[in-house]
Amino acid sequence: MRLRIFNTLGMRKEDFVPLRDGEVRIYACGPTVYDFIHIGNARAFVFMDIVHRYLEYKGFRVIFVSNITDVDDKIIRRSQETGLSIQQIGEIYSEAYFNDIEALNIMKPDVCPRATQHISEMIEVIQKLIEKGFAYQVDGDVYFDVSKFEDYGKLSGNKMEALEMGARIEVNPKKRNPADFALWKSRKEGEPAWYSPWGWGRPGWHIECSTMAMRYLGETFDIHMGGKDLIFPHHENEIAQAESLTGKPFARYWLHNEWLTVNGQKMSKSLGNFITVQDALKMCSPQVLRFFLISAHYRSPLDFNKESLEQAKASLEKILNAIERLLSLEERTKKGENEDALLSQVYEAKKRFEEAMDDDFNTPLAIAAIFDIVKAINIYSSKERQIESTTKKEVYGVVRTLLEDVLGIKIETKGKEKPRSELVDSLMNIILEFRQEMRRRKEWKISDEIRDKLRKIGVIIEDTPHGTRWQLKEV
Ligand SMILES: [Zn+2]
Repeated sequence: MRLRIFNTLGMRKEDFVPLRDGEVRIYACGPTVYDFIHIGNARAFVFMDIVHRYLEYKGFRVIFVSNITDVDDKIIRRSQETGLSIQQIGEIYSEAYFNDIEALNIMKPDVCPRATQHISEMIEVIQKLIEKGFAYQVDGDVYFDVSKFEDYGKLSGNKMEALEMGARIEVNPKKRNPADFALWKSRKEGEPAWYSPWGWGRPGWHIECSTMAMRYLGETFDIHMGGKDLIFPHHENEIAQAESLTGKPFARYWLHNEWLTVNGQKMSKSLGNFITVQDALKMCSPQVLRFFLISAHYRSPLDFNKESLEQAKASLEKILNAIERLLSLEERTKKGENEDALLSQVYEAKKRFEEAMDDDFNTPLAIAAIFDIVKAINIYSSKERQIESTTKKEVYGVVRTLLEDVLGIKIETKGKEKPRSELVDSLMNIILEFRQEMRRRKEWKISDEIRDKLRKIGVIIEDTPHGTRWQLKEV
């Protein structure tokens, strides 16, 4: 089935057709590294990862670029507050960002360009915009003239509304139109600066993203993503800059995720409900947090509260318990009578999962399809204790692919955790020593019986010239 995506540009669901056959090029707005990422950022990054993973699952080669904004007003402010340089601030928080996304099992982008490493390219783009008449210089600042770009407002909606919003943000006598935005900002006391044709200064945030996106993905690419808060002015301005420069469409599909609220309120530092990923991971595991973040459709609001987190935890446990039940079924060589029913239920659920994901990445419906598999496994294991090994592998294979590869939820069953415990290690040593003693006494029957009983609970032992080793059965 063809993937359908809700495109903010045009505000409707469209069939997804990539520019190049079999390849999808994506730009996702990354973090501004001035603080730890919060759970609202995490919702956006996890959603982007879902898009990345599902497109790969559908067989596309994905080129995923996500930037690091390491020069910006917020970083400069943080640097002035702390006395650390903007480089130090950038390093501290980009490292924290990479740690957080790794904890959430978000795949690392193919390219993570840093704004400060692309300043000369940004200067070039700005210069061309001036030459083409889309930008003008005033006292060392360069502004984009929105009145020159006819399509201004096409992403966020009404052009006039956008212009008025611009006017409300700041009144600057240097600007020709209130909604004109800075491409280059002249140096102010204590700010980092680069040399340019307009004197010392630094790029504006919007030009950073347009430049890096085109640098790595070309003038026109497939998908541009970010949180809903980035539609205006950030993405509107990215379009204006890039399309004025090239005369070609910039990104073809624009995807934006909804807010995450905390106890029904918008997250903000002043309300004291600003929860970083690290704070959230004190309340639950990374797997539960990720599962919670995809439990609502990305275009629906999602509220972070104790109950919803508990609910996510309980749901994920149900799934993992069913997988564990499947893995602990004893293997047999012949297929039993209930196995065909199990397999057909699993494949029907897989189809429903794909239909849900094809319909604009509907993760709650995809999770419901996984619950259909859970139900099928639970019904089967209530009737049977055995399963043919190939059936077990097949069912496990489907559930592992959907849950781990597509939704990015690692399967950590209790069974896998056993060998990590010191107690299990010690118990296994006692059992193996006892079995070794039986072998010395040529009590083969007892020794084999121990081996077989261990196998039944998933522990494989192997007699080697250097002694007996044990490991958990791989499915
Ligand atoms: Zn951006």
